[in-house]
Amino acid sequence: MAGNVKELKEKLLLKKNHGGLVLSEDDLSKVEKFSVGYKEFLNKSKTEREAVNYVLKIVKEKGFTEFDKSKKYKPGDKVYYVNRNRAIALAVIGEDGTKNGVKMAIAHIDSPRLDLKPNPLYENNDIALFKTHYYGGIKKYQWTAIPLSLHGRVVKSDGSYVDINLGEDKDEPCFCVTDLLPHLAKEQMNKTMLKGIDGENLNVLVGSLPFKSDKESELVKLNIMKLINEKYDIVESDFVSAELELVPTFKAQDVGFDRSLIGGYGHDDRVCAYPIVEAIINSEKPKETIITVLADKEEIGSDGNTGMKSKFIKYFISDLAMQDGMKCRDVLRKSKCISTDVNAAFDPTYSSQYDASNSCYINRGVVVTKYTGSGGKSGTSDASAEYMGEIRQILDKADILWQTGELGKVDAGGGGTIAKFVANLDVDVVDMGVPVLSMHAPFEVISKIDLYMLYKATVAFFD
Ligand code: MN
Ligand code: MN
Repeated sequence: MAGNVKELKEKLLLKKNHGGLVLSEDDLSKVEKFSVGYKEFLNKSKTEREAVNYVLKIVKEKGFTEFDKSKKYKPGDKVYYVNRNRAIALAVIGEDGTKNGVKMAIAHIDSPRLDLKPNPLYENNDIALFKTHYYGGIKKYQWTAIPLSLHGRVVKSDGSYVDINLGEDKDEPCFCVTDLLPHLAKEQMNKTMLKGIDGENLNVLVGSLPFKSDKESELVKLNIMKLINEKYDIVESDFVSAELELVPTFKAQDVGFDRSLIGGYGHDDRVCAYPIVEAIINSEKPKETIITVLADKEEIGSDGNTGMKSKFIKYFISDLAMQDGMKCRDVLRKSKCISTDVNAAFDPTYSSQYDASNSCYINRGVVVTKYTGSGGKSGTSDASAEYMGEIRQILDKADILWQTGELGKVDAGGGGTIAKFVANLDVDVVDMGVPVLSMHAPFEVISKIDLYMLYKATVAFFD
Protein backbone atom coordinates (compact mmCIF):
# COMPACT_ATOMS: atom_id res chain seq x y z
CA MET A 1 0.00 0.00 0.00
CA ALA A 2 1.34 3.38 -1.00
CA GLY A 3 1.61 6.46 1.17
CA ASN A 4 2.90 6.95 4.67
CA VAL A 5 0.94 6.40 7.86
CA LYS A 6 0.23 10.07 8.46
CA GLU A 7 -1.21 10.58 4.97
CA LEU A 8 -3.30 7.45 5.18
CA LYS A 9 -4.67 8.39 8.60
CA GLU A 10 -5.57 11.82 7.27
CA LYS A 11 -7.28 10.33 4.25
CA LEU A 12 -9.02 7.30 5.72
CA LEU A 13 -9.77 7.68 9.41
CA LEU A 14 -12.53 9.57 11.19
CA LYS A 15 -11.25 12.78 12.75
CA LYS A 16 -12.39 13.84 16.21
CA ASN A 17 -11.77 17.51 16.72
CA HIS A 18 -11.72 19.29 20.06
CA GLY A 19 -13.31 22.73 20.01
CA GLY A 20 -10.65 24.07 22.34
CA LEU A 21 -8.00 23.22 19.75
CA VAL A 22 -9.67 23.94 16.41
CA LEU A 23 -11.68 27.10 17.12
CA SER A 24 -10.10 30.50 16.51
CA GLU A 25 -9.86 33.21 19.17
CA ASP A 26 -12.57 35.05 17.26
CA ASP A 27 -14.85 31.99 17.39
CA LEU A 28 -14.17 31.52 21.07
CA SER A 29 -15.16 35.10 21.84
CA LYS A 30 -18.43 34.54 19.93
CA VAL A 31 -18.93 31.37 22.01
CA GLU A 32 -18.55 33.38 25.23
CA LYS A 33 -20.86 36.16 24.04
CA PHE A 34 -23.57 33.68 23.03
CA SER A 35 -23.40 31.94 26.41
CA VAL A 36 -24.25 35.19 28.24
CA GLY A 37 -27.62 35.46 26.49
CA TYR A 38 -28.26 31.78 27.10
CA LYS A 39 -27.66 32.03 30.85
CA GLU A 40 -30.10 34.94 31.01
CA PHE A 41 -32.70 32.86 29.16
CA LEU A 42 -32.12 29.86 31.44
CA ASN A 43 -32.57 31.95 34.60
CA LYS A 44 -35.81 33.52 33.37
CA SER A 45 -37.34 30.41 31.79
CA LYS A 46 -37.53 27.68 34.39
CA THR A 47 -40.93 26.44 33.25
CA GLU A 48 -42.50 25.96 29.83
CA ARG A 49 -44.81 28.95 30.39
CA GLU A 50 -41.91 31.19 31.33
CA ALA A 51 -39.93 29.99 28.30
CA VAL A 52 -42.85 30.81 26.00
CA ASN A 53 -43.22 34.28 27.56
CA TYR A 54 -39.49 34.99 27.28
CA VAL A 55 -39.32 33.89 23.63
CA LEU A 56 -42.50 35.80 22.79
CA LYS A 57 -40.99 38.98 24.20
CA ILE A 58 -37.78 38.60 22.15
CA VAL A 59 -39.46 37.71 18.86
CA LYS A 60 -41.98 40.54 19.10
CA GLU A 61 -39.04 42.95 19.43
CA LYS A 62 -37.56 41.34 16.30
CA GLY A 63 -40.67 41.97 14.20
CA PHE A 64 -42.57 38.69 14.54
CA THR A 65 -46.37 39.12 14.54
CA GLU A 66 -49.14 36.76 15.58
CA PHE A 67 -50.00 34.39 12.73
CA ASP A 68 -53.37 35.08 11.15
CA LYS A 69 -54.27 32.53 8.50
CA SER A 70 -56.67 34.95 6.80
CA LYS A 71 -53.74 37.27 5.99
CA LYS A 72 -51.50 36.87 2.95
CA TYR A 73 -47.81 36.73 3.88
CA LYS A 74 -44.83 37.48 1.69
CA PRO A 75 -41.23 36.21 1.78
CA GLY A 76 -39.36 37.52 4.81
CA ASP A 77 -42.49 37.94 6.94
CA LYS A 78 -42.05 36.65 10.48
CA VAL A 79 -44.88 35.09 12.45
CA TYR A 80 -45.52 33.28 15.72
CA TYR A 81 -48.21 30.95 16.98
CA VAL A 82 -48.66 30.33 20.71
CA ASN A 83 -50.38 27.14 21.79
CA ARG A 84 -52.08 27.48 25.20
CA ASN A 85 -49.17 29.46 26.74
CA ARG A 86 -46.99 26.33 26.90
CA ALA A 87 -45.76 25.76 23.35
CA ILE A 88 -44.81 28.13 20.56
CA ALA A 89 -44.08 27.94 16.84
CA LEU A 90 -42.14 30.63 14.96
CA ALA A 91 -41.92 30.89 11.18
CA VAL A 92 -40.13 33.03 8.62
CA ILE A 93 -41.78 32.88 5.20
CA GLY A 94 -39.29 31.73 2.53
CA GLU A 95 -38.77 32.94 -1.03
CA ASP A 96 -40.38 29.71 -2.24
CA GLY A 97 -42.83 29.53 0.65
CA THR A 98 -43.83 25.94 1.37
CA LYS A 99 -43.69 24.70 -2.25
CA ASN A 100 -40.55 22.64 -1.68
CA GLY A 101 -41.42 21.74 1.89
CA VAL A 102 -40.46 23.56 5.08
CA LYS A 103 -37.35 23.35 7.24
CA MET A 104 -38.07 22.79 10.89
CA ALA A 105 -36.02 22.90 14.06
CA ILE A 106 -37.82 21.58 17.13
CA ALA A 107 -36.98 21.40 20.84
CA HIS A 108 -38.84 20.95 24.10
CA ILE A 109 -39.12 23.47 26.93
CA ASP A 110 -40.40 21.31 29.80
CA SER A 111 -37.89 19.85 32.26
CA PRO A 112 -38.04 17.34 35.13
CA ARG A 113 -39.37 18.88 38.35
CA LEU A 114 -41.85 18.43 41.22
CA ASP A 115 -45.47 19.38 40.49
CA LEU A 116 -47.96 20.21 43.25
CA LYS A 117 -50.84 17.79 43.67
CA PRO A 118 -54.36 19.25 43.20
CA ASN A 119 -54.84 19.27 46.97
CA PRO A 120 -51.30 19.97 48.15
CA LEU A 121 -51.39 21.76 51.50
CA TYR A 122 -51.43 19.81 54.78
CA GLU A 123 -50.01 19.96 58.25
CA ASN A 124 -48.34 17.25 60.29
CA ASN A 125 -47.02 17.80 63.82
CA ASP A 126 -46.90 21.58 63.41
CA ILE A 127 -45.08 21.48 60.06
CA ALA A 128 -46.88 22.70 56.91
CA LEU A 129 -46.09 20.81 53.72
CA PHE A 130 -47.07 20.55 50.05
CA LYS A 131 -47.75 17.15 48.51
CA THR A 132 -46.06 16.76 45.11
CA HIS A 133 -46.10 14.43 42.14
CA TYR A 134 -42.78 14.34 40.33
CA TYR A 135 -42.71 15.17 36.61
CA GLY A 136 -40.37 13.32 34.25
CA GLY A 137 -37.53 10.91 34.89
CA ILE A 138 -35.72 11.91 38.07
CA LYS A 139 -33.39 10.27 40.58
CA LYS A 140 -35.57 11.18 43.56
CA TYR A 141 -32.76 11.46 46.09
CA GLN A 142 -31.30 14.38 44.07
CA TRP A 143 -34.37 16.49 44.81
CA THR A 144 -34.12 16.40 48.60
CA ALA A 145 -32.22 18.97 50.65
CA ILE A 146 -31.81 21.53 47.86
CA PRO A 147 -33.49 24.95 47.67
CA LEU A 148 -36.59 25.00 45.45
CA SER A 149 -38.68 27.84 44.07
CA LEU A 150 -42.37 27.79 43.21
CA HIS A 151 -43.48 28.72 39.69
CA GLY A 152 -46.76 28.56 37.86
CA ARG A 153 -50.32 29.73 37.42
CA VAL A 154 -53.41 29.48 39.62
CA VAL A 155 -56.84 29.98 38.05
CA LYS A 156 -59.40 31.21 40.58
CA SER A 157 -63.08 30.27 40.81
CA ASP A 158 -64.09 33.43 38.91
CA GLY A 159 -61.79 32.52 36.00
CA SER A 160 -59.16 35.17 36.72
CA TYR A 161 -55.64 33.94 37.33
CA VAL A 162 -52.49 34.75 39.23
CA ASP A 163 -48.94 33.86 38.19
CA ILE A 164 -46.54 32.78 40.90
CA ASN A 165 -42.73 33.00 40.85
CA LEU A 166 -41.38 32.75 44.40
CA GLY A 167 -37.93 31.81 45.64
CA GLU A 168 -35.71 32.96 42.78
CA ASP A 169 -34.68 36.24 44.40
CA LYS A 170 -32.22 35.86 47.27
CA ASP A 171 -34.48 38.03 49.45
CA GLU A 172 -37.46 35.77 48.85
CA PRO A 173 -38.20 32.61 50.82
CA CYS A 174 -37.53 29.26 49.12
CA PHE A 175 -38.75 25.73 49.82
CA CYS A 176 -37.22 22.27 50.16
CA VAL A 177 -37.80 18.55 50.57
CA THR A 178 -36.24 17.31 53.81
CA ASP A 179 -34.11 14.16 54.02
CA LEU A 180 -33.39 11.83 56.90
CA LEU A 181 -30.18 12.42 58.84
CA PRO A 182 -27.50 9.71 58.26
CA HIS A 183 -27.53 8.88 61.96
CA LEU A 184 -31.06 7.52 61.65
CA ALA A 185 -30.89 6.32 58.06
CA LYS A 186 -29.65 2.77 58.65
CA GLU A 187 -32.78 1.28 57.11
CA GLN A 188 -33.00 3.86 54.29
CA MET A 189 -29.34 3.45 53.31
CA ASN A 190 -29.80 -0.29 52.85
CA LYS A 191 -32.48 0.30 50.21
CA THR A 192 -31.68 0.56 46.49
CA MET A 193 -31.32 4.08 45.09
CA LEU A 194 -34.62 3.55 43.32
CA LYS A 195 -36.41 2.99 46.64
CA GLY A 196 -34.32 5.14 49.00
CA ILE A 197 -36.69 8.08 48.57
CA ASP A 198 -40.35 7.24 48.11
CA GLY A 199 -42.20 9.34 45.50
CA GLU A 200 -44.97 9.91 48.02
CA ASN A 201 -42.40 11.34 50.43
CA LEU A 202 -41.28 14.18 48.17
CA ASN A 203 -43.15 16.56 50.45
CA VAL A 204 -42.15 20.19 50.39
CA LEU A 205 -41.59 22.22 53.55
CA VAL A 206 -43.64 25.42 53.36
CA GLY A 207 -43.94 26.73 56.94
CA SER A 208 -43.95 26.11 60.66
CA LEU A 209 -45.75 28.91 62.54
CA PRO A 210 -49.34 28.50 63.73
CA PHE A 211 -52.09 31.07 63.47
CA LYS A 212 -52.32 32.65 66.93
CA SER A 213 -55.81 31.93 68.20
CA ASP A 214 -57.90 29.59 70.34
CA LYS A 215 -57.42 25.87 70.75
CA GLU A 216 -58.44 24.91 67.18
CA SER A 217 -56.37 22.27 65.35
CA GLU A 218 -54.45 22.60 62.06
CA LEU A 219 -53.41 26.14 62.86
CA VAL A 220 -50.10 25.99 60.99
CA LYS A 221 -51.93 25.05 57.80
CA LEU A 222 -54.43 27.85 58.44
CA ASN A 223 -51.63 30.35 58.99
CA ILE A 224 -49.82 29.34 55.78
CA MET A 225 -53.06 29.49 53.77
CA LYS A 226 -53.72 32.94 55.25
CA LEU A 227 -50.26 34.12 54.12
CA ILE A 228 -50.77 32.65 50.64
CA ASN A 229 -54.17 34.34 50.47
CA GLU A 230 -52.72 37.71 51.49
CA LYS A 231 -49.99 37.47 48.84
CA TYR A 232 -51.90 35.93 45.92
CA ASP A 233 -55.60 36.34 46.77
CA ILE A 234 -56.29 32.61 46.37
CA VAL A 235 -58.04 30.07 48.60
CA GLU A 236 -57.27 26.39 49.16
CA SER A 237 -59.77 25.14 46.58
CA ASP A 238 -57.99 27.20 43.88
CA PHE A 239 -55.09 24.72 43.90
CA VAL A 240 -57.41 22.40 41.98
CA SER A 241 -57.14 24.65 38.93
CA ALA A 242 -53.42 25.34 39.07
CA GLU A 243 -50.15 24.31 37.50
CA LEU A 244 -47.55 24.86 40.19
CA GLU A 245 -44.06 23.53 39.74
CA LEU A 246 -41.13 23.34 42.15
CA VAL A 247 -37.78 23.82 40.47
CA PRO A 248 -34.23 24.33 41.79
CA THR A 249 -33.46 27.92 42.77
CA PHE A 250 -29.92 27.63 41.33
CA LYS A 251 -28.87 30.28 38.86
CA ALA A 252 -26.93 29.27 35.76
CA GLN A 253 -23.26 29.61 36.58
CA ASP A 254 -19.93 29.02 34.85
CA VAL A 255 -18.25 25.79 35.90
CA GLY A 256 -14.50 25.14 35.99
CA PHE A 257 -11.37 27.26 36.39
CA ASP A 258 -11.44 27.83 32.62
CA ARG A 259 -15.16 28.76 32.71
CA SER A 260 -15.71 26.48 29.70
CA LEU A 261 -18.89 24.91 31.09
CA ILE A 262 -22.26 26.11 32.37
CA GLY A 263 -24.08 24.46 35.24
CA GLY A 264 -27.78 25.06 35.73
CA TYR A 265 -31.27 23.68 35.95
CA GLY A 266 -33.11 22.66 32.79
CA HIS A 267 -30.39 22.57 30.11
CA ASP A 268 -32.50 19.63 28.86
CA ASP A 269 -33.80 20.97 26.61
CA ARG A 270 -33.48 24.75 26.86
CA VAL A 271 -29.87 24.43 25.72
CA CYS A 272 -31.38 23.53 22.34
CA ALA A 273 -34.47 25.77 22.51
CA TYR A 274 -32.39 28.94 22.86
CA PRO A 275 -30.07 28.38 19.85
CA ILE A 276 -32.92 27.40 17.50
CA VAL A 277 -34.84 30.54 18.50
CA GLU A 278 -31.75 32.71 17.96
CA ALA A 279 -31.18 30.98 14.61
CA ILE A 280 -34.65 31.77 13.26
CA ILE A 281 -34.49 35.34 14.57
CA ASN A 282 -31.28 35.90 12.62
CA SER A 283 -32.46 34.28 9.37
CA GLU A 284 -33.41 36.82 6.72
CA LYS A 285 -35.41 35.67 3.70
CA PRO A 286 -34.66 31.94 3.63
CA LYS A 287 -35.40 29.99 0.44
CA GLU A 288 -37.87 27.62 2.04
CA THR A 289 -40.15 28.68 4.90
CA ILE A 290 -38.37 27.92 8.17
CA ILE A 291 -40.05 26.99 11.43
CA THR A 292 -38.87 26.73 15.02
CA VAL A 293 -41.11 24.78 17.40
CA LEU A 294 -40.79 24.73 21.19
CA ALA A 295 -42.98 21.97 22.60
CA ASP A 296 -44.16 20.95 26.05
CA LYS A 297 -44.62 17.52 27.69
CA GLU A 298 -41.55 15.76 26.24
CA GLU A 299 -40.43 14.57 29.65
CA ILE A 300 -43.70 12.71 30.17
CA GLY A 301 -44.02 11.23 26.68
CA SER A 302 -45.18 14.19 24.52
CA ASP A 303 -48.88 13.43 25.02
CA GLY A 304 -51.34 16.27 25.47
CA ASN A 305 -52.36 19.16 23.25
CA THR A 306 -49.14 21.13 23.86
CA GLY A 307 -46.86 18.11 23.33
CA MET A 308 -45.22 17.06 20.09
CA LYS A 309 -47.73 14.25 19.55
CA SER A 310 -50.45 16.92 19.28
CA LYS A 311 -51.64 17.90 15.82
CA PHE A 312 -51.09 21.61 16.50
CA ILE A 313 -47.88 21.70 14.49
CA LYS A 314 -49.42 19.84 11.56
CA TYR A 315 -52.30 22.32 11.55
CA PHE A 316 -49.87 25.25 11.67
CA ILE A 317 -47.98 23.87 8.65
CA SER A 318 -51.31 23.20 6.96
CA ASP A 319 -52.26 26.88 7.39
CA LEU A 320 -48.89 27.95 5.96
CA ALA A 321 -49.34 25.54 3.03
CA MET A 322 -52.73 27.06 2.23
CA GLN A 323 -50.99 30.40 1.73
CA ASP A 324 -49.30 28.85 -1.32
CA GLY A 325 -52.28 26.80 -2.45
CA MET A 326 -50.42 23.66 -1.37
CA LYS A 327 -51.79 20.52 0.25
CA CYS A 328 -50.35 19.96 3.72
CA ARG A 329 -49.40 16.36 2.91
CA ASP A 330 -47.38 17.44 -0.12
CA VAL A 331 -45.53 20.01 1.98
CA LEU A 332 -44.81 17.54 4.78
CA ARG A 333 -43.42 14.88 2.44
CA LYS A 334 -40.78 17.33 1.17
CA SER A 335 -40.01 18.84 4.58
CA LYS A 336 -36.83 18.46 6.62
CA CYS A 337 -36.40 18.65 10.36
CA ILE A 338 -33.69 18.72 12.97
CA SER A 339 -35.02 17.55 16.31
CA THR A 340 -32.77 19.33 18.76
CA ASP A 341 -32.43 17.59 22.09
CA VAL A 342 -29.60 16.80 24.46
CA ASN A 343 -27.55 13.61 24.45
CA ALA A 344 -25.58 11.97 27.28
CA ALA A 345 -22.03 13.33 27.24
CA PHE A 346 -19.33 10.76 27.96
CA ASP A 347 -18.67 10.93 31.69
CA PRO A 348 -15.22 9.59 32.67
CA THR A 349 -16.51 8.79 36.16
CA TYR A 350 -19.17 6.46 34.74
CA SER A 351 -17.33 5.33 31.62
CA SER A 352 -18.55 1.73 31.91
CA GLN A 353 -22.05 2.80 30.81
CA TYR A 354 -20.84 4.28 27.50
CA ASP A 355 -19.35 2.91 24.29
CA ALA A 356 -16.38 5.26 24.08
CA SER A 357 -16.17 5.14 20.28
CA ASN A 358 -19.88 5.92 19.84
CA SER A 359 -20.42 8.49 22.58
CA CYS A 360 -20.58 12.24 22.30
CA TYR A 361 -18.04 14.33 24.19
CA ILE A 362 -18.12 17.73 25.84
CA ASN A 363 -16.47 20.43 23.64
CA ARG A 364 -16.50 18.34 20.47
CA GLY A 365 -19.44 20.22 19.05
CA VAL A 366 -23.03 19.57 18.15
CA VAL A 367 -23.98 15.88 18.40
CA VAL A 368 -25.90 14.22 15.58
CA THR A 369 -27.80 11.23 16.92
CA LYS A 370 -29.00 8.86 14.20
CA TYR A 371 -31.26 7.01 16.59
CA THR A 372 -32.24 7.02 20.24
CA GLY A 373 -34.57 4.41 21.76
CA SER A 374 -33.81 1.41 23.95
CA GLY A 375 -33.69 -2.39 23.89
CA GLY A 376 -32.68 -2.78 20.24
CA LYS A 377 -33.57 0.66 18.82
CA SER A 378 -37.15 0.45 20.09
CA GLY A 379 -39.02 3.77 20.13
CA THR A 380 -36.97 5.81 17.68
CA SER A 381 -37.37 7.04 14.11
CA ASP A 382 -33.72 6.15 13.14
CA ALA A 383 -32.69 8.64 10.45
CA SER A 384 -31.96 7.22 6.98
CA ALA A 385 -28.49 6.99 5.45
CA GLU A 386 -29.61 9.50 2.80
CA TYR A 387 -30.77 12.09 5.33
CA MET A 388 -27.65 11.60 7.49
CA GLY A 389 -25.71 12.21 4.28
CA GLU A 390 -27.53 15.48 3.64
CA ILE A 391 -27.01 16.66 7.19
CA ARG A 392 -23.26 15.93 7.30
CA GLN A 393 -22.82 17.81 4.02
CA ILE A 394 -24.60 20.86 5.47
CA LEU A 395 -22.48 20.75 8.63
CA ASP A 396 -19.16 20.24 6.85
CA LYS A 397 -19.89 22.93 4.27
CA ALA A 398 -20.60 25.45 7.04
CA ASP A 399 -17.49 24.38 8.96
CA ILE A 400 -19.50 23.28 12.01
CA LEU A 401 -17.75 21.31 14.75
CA TRP A 402 -19.85 18.16 15.04
CA GLN A 403 -19.78 14.58 16.27
CA THR A 404 -22.05 11.58 16.48
CA GLY A 405 -23.26 9.90 19.64
CA GLU A 406 -25.43 7.11 20.92
CA LEU A 407 -27.29 7.46 24.21
CA GLY A 408 -25.02 5.19 26.28
CA LYS A 409 -24.00 1.63 25.50
CA VAL A 410 -26.37 -0.99 24.09
CA ASP A 411 -28.87 -2.15 26.72
CA ALA A 412 -27.53 0.23 29.39
CA GLY A 413 -30.97 1.83 29.41
CA GLY A 414 -31.85 4.37 26.75
CA GLY A 415 -34.50 6.94 26.05
CA GLY A 416 -36.46 8.67 23.36
CA THR A 417 -37.28 12.15 22.23
CA ILE A 418 -39.60 14.06 19.91
CA ALA A 419 -37.96 13.29 16.53
CA LYS A 420 -40.22 10.31 15.89
CA PHE A 421 -43.44 12.33 16.18
CA VAL A 422 -42.28 14.59 13.34
CA ALA A 423 -41.04 11.57 11.36
CA ASN A 424 -44.54 10.12 11.69
CA LEU A 425 -45.85 13.17 9.79
CA ASP A 426 -43.84 11.96 6.74
CA VAL A 427 -40.95 14.37 7.34
CA ASP A 428 -37.19 13.63 7.19
CA VAL A 429 -35.79 14.12 10.68
CA VAL A 430 -32.64 13.54 12.67
CA ASP A 431 -31.67 14.30 16.26
CA MET A 432 -29.10 17.01 16.74
CA GLY A 433 -28.18 18.63 20.01
CA VAL A 434 -25.83 19.37 22.84
CA PRO A 435 -24.01 16.83 25.06
CA VAL A 436 -24.99 17.11 28.76
CA LEU A 437 -23.38 15.84 31.95
CA SER A 438 -25.68 14.88 34.86
CA MET A 439 -28.74 14.93 32.60
CA HIS A 440 -32.05 15.28 34.52
CA ALA A 441 -30.22 16.25 37.73
CA PRO A 442 -31.23 19.54 39.38
CA PHE A 443 -27.86 20.94 38.24
CA GLU A 444 -26.90 19.82 34.72
CA VAL A 445 -23.69 20.76 32.90
CA ILE A 446 -23.04 21.68 29.25
CA SER A 447 -20.17 23.21 27.27
CA LYS A 448 -20.34 26.73 25.89
CA ILE A 449 -18.68 25.60 22.65
CA ASP A 450 -21.30 22.92 22.01
CA LEU A 451 -24.13 25.38 22.73
CA TYR A 452 -22.79 27.85 20.17
CA MET A 453 -22.21 25.08 17.61
CA LEU A 454 -25.89 24.14 17.75
CA TYR A 455 -26.74 27.76 16.95
CA LYS A 456 -24.35 27.74 13.97
CA ALA A 457 -25.61 24.33 12.83
CA THR A 458 -29.24 25.52 12.89
CA VAL A 459 -28.37 28.68 10.94
CA ALA A 460 -26.64 26.47 8.33
CA PHE A 461 -29.62 24.07 8.20
CA PHE A 462 -32.09 26.95 7.72
CA ASP A 463 -29.93 28.63 5.08
MN1 MN B 1 -34.74 16.31 26.25
MN1 MN C 1 -35.05 14.82 29.20
